[in-house]
Amino acid sequence: MSLKIYLNDRLVEKDKATVSVFDHGLLYGDGVFEGIRSYDGLVFKLREHLDRLFESAHTLMLDIPMTKSELERAVIGTLKANHLKDAYIRLVVTRGVGDLGLDPRKCPRPTLFIIADKISLYPKEYYEKGLTLVTVPTVRNHPEALNPQLKTLNYLNNILAKIEATTAGVDEGILLNAQGYVTECTGENIFFIKGKSIVTPPPYVGILKGITRDVAMRLGSELGFSVREAVFTRHDLYTADEVFLTGTAAEIVPVVRIDNRVIGAGRPGKTTLRLTKEFRKLTPKEGVRS
Ligand code: PMP
Repeated sequence: MSLKIYLNDRLVEKDKATVSVFDHGLLYGDGVFEGIRSYDGLVFKLREHLDRLFESAHTLMLDIPMTKSELERAVIGTLKANHLKDAYIRLVVTRGVGDLGLDPRKCPRPTLFIIADKISLYPKEYYEKGLTLVTVPTVRNHPEALNPQLKTLNYLNNILAKIEATTAGVDEGILLNAQGYVTECTGENIFFIKGKSIVTPPPYVGILKGITRDVAMRLGSELGFSVREAVFTRHDLYTADEVFLTGTAAEIVPVVRIDNRVIGAGRPGKTTLRLTKEFRKLTPKEGVRS
């Protein structure tokens, strides 16, 4: 059975789900998106994802052609139409079709689509052995140029970093900001644990404010840690007890090596493992039913 894609206002077969070459999402990366997951038919943190989508669109002065409740129903309808329970959902709104100029005023109608497909999970060994990271040469987008808090279709900053990490032969890349402070990885937020503290960079250094990040911060506090946002350097990562990443696809994943320095004992740390376990207990619960 072919996949059904929600495109603009209806479900269409995958082969019919096409957008114009004049769409500014394609021509200029002018648009916003969300990556969402469903667990056993429950869409995890759907409202938070919709809030972030609307906030990104608001700053870009892009009018999403549906309300949040309509979008919520469209996401759930797309999952149902494809009989998916554990899925990865990609929700995209572009500026729409215009001419070859930049001007968004020439794009009268945004394009909206929702793809729900089977989730391709991170390899199990990532959680068992931990990830290896390097700091990449590409600097994270400056917040006053293209703020990383906006989840836009322009992901080249992240893609360059990903290329640098993979050509270095490791699993992920850490991007620093223009001042040399740690921001995040190409598609995940970063945390370190030192003693009873769990630390992650604040949004103003230049990160996407991850939804999994918020959950990890809450879980860390519930486990009795002092969780805080702070500006820090690579040295803090190298000398941490544990380092982990968070993201919708990754959930909570341990890091064991950064720039060839062994982190902690060189194995996934016990607090990270505990956080992963607690996170997995709550994912099927804190969702919106499809
Ligand atoms: N940072 C970046 C750059 C991302 O693209 C993502 C999402 N893949 C994240 C962090 C994690 O955010 P979330 O937990 O909301 O998926």
